Amino acid sequence: MQALKERILRDGVVKPGNVLKVDSFLNHQMDVMLFDEMGAEFYRRFAQENITKILTVEASGIGIACMAARHFGVPVVFAKKTQTSNLDPEVYEAPVHSFTHNKDYKVRVSKKYLSAEDRVLLIDDFLANGEALRGLSSIVEQAGATLCGAGIAVEKGFQDGGKQLRESGMRVESLAIIESMDDNKIVFA
Ligand code: 5GP
Repeated sequence: MQALKERILRDGVVKPGNVLKVDSFLNHQMDVMLFDEMGAEFYRRFAQENITKILTVEASGIGIACMAARHFGVPVVFAKKTQTSNLDPEVYEAPVHSFTHNKDYKVRVSKKYLSAEDRVLLIDDFLANGEALRGLSSIVEQAGATLCGAGIAVEKGFQDGGKQLRESGMRVESLAIIESMDDNKIVFA
């Protein structure tokens, strides 16, 4: 998606450890108009799938997922990373290793909000090693729901997640795929 790629080139900052910082429009301040365009593009790609629910993970996926959900006309469920007292005791749960924080955590979704009738689209901001998507897809599987695919804003194509998930049969649609970002130079696939 051209507008997203241009924005990454304009405002993205490459950090040590293969991390792309996009705080000015995606991960801290959010450009909702751009998110809306991204949502429209996800809808264009997945419109035939009869999606009934969008599943993401807190926190950075939520804004994009909500704007996408407006186009699909479905609710968003976000997986929680902490077991808060007001989360239902009955949850689907999956382990995830965080690429950016290099630590393990669990994602949890109340059993109330995903069921076997659901056709689910996963949405996230970044795809690196695929850990977050694997955790979310495990939750979909536990619910007996149908996983229709994943919509990603930025895929780092030089990391293995996208390749592995596609090989496993998941439909992964990324709006911008970065082939390399060596020496602070971002190159798209
Ligand atoms: P994965 O689970 O695919 O290894 O990593 C994806 C998750 O890590 C995303 O949910 C995102 O929050 C975070 N992430 C991975 N790489 C980057 C990056 O280069 N920049 C930012 N801002 N987040 C990243």
